[in-house]
Amino acid sequence: MTFTFVTLFKNLVEGYFQDSILYRALEGELIKINYLNPRDFSESKHKKVDDTAVGGGAGMVMNPQPLYDSLQELREQDENVHIVFLTPVAKPFKQNDAKRLATKSHIAFVSGRYEGIDERIIEEFADEVFSIGDYILTGGELASLVICDAVSRNIEGVLGNSDSLSIESFESPLLEAPSFSKPQVYKNMCVPSEYLKGNHSKIRSLKLALSESKTKFFRPEQLLKHRTRKSYEK
Ligand code: SAM
Repeated sequence: MTFTFVTLFKNLVEGYFQDSILYRALEGELIKINYLNPRDFSESKHKKVDDTAVGGGAGMVMNPQPLYDSLQELREQDENVHIVFLTPVAKPFKQNDAKRLATKSHIAFVSGRYEGIDERIIEEFADEVFSIGDYILTGGELASLVICDAVSRNIEGVLGNSDSLSIESFESPLLEAPSFSKPQVYKNMCVPSEYLKGNHSKIRSLKLALSESKTKFFRPEQLLKHRTRKSYEK
């Protein structure tokens, strides 16, 4: 899988691939990373990539020409590239999207800066647009990395133990049950005794109960979804 980051600030992205799981994925050639800087395509004398907003409004907007030319070149190089724009004005990115996108051969993430990107470019090139949450970041680079990370974990071979994918939160409406590691007692804090007794069916039902109570507390709407699904299954 190839990821292309279309960004004015490659340095903000590069560091993330220098350690841990995505570093190993890169070394093992399970993923490949490219960068494309719209500034390199700017035809203006001072390599400008932004301009004032037509119709007024605060701040600058990324102007069409540098982005148009860079994305056009990307499309010409690979007609199968799936172009994703990061913007708060979009559907929220979810785990199902991560799984679906992991089947693509090439994804390009287009990061906005300033007050965002000229809408005509989004209309012309976006295969999809995503928001990573209801807050405003200074640029799309972090959002691109969030999606790239979540997608990469779903590419075969990237995680050492792919079993962990199937039991994680968001695989079902319920959040994951609490996890504990050794030692069993740490600074007078014990793991739940049922976890220690080796009765797997009891451990499973305790984990389900804990999962439900975590979900009820943090994401009540998800618990409702879980219960509705259960009642359909009956
Ligand atoms: N004026 C825009 C608005 O109110 O919707 C916000 C622009 S923001 C300062 C600059 C860039 O950061 C955006 O073009 C986008 O690429 C990125 N960005 C900010 N928040 C984001 C979010 N929640 N999800 C995805 N991208 C985001």
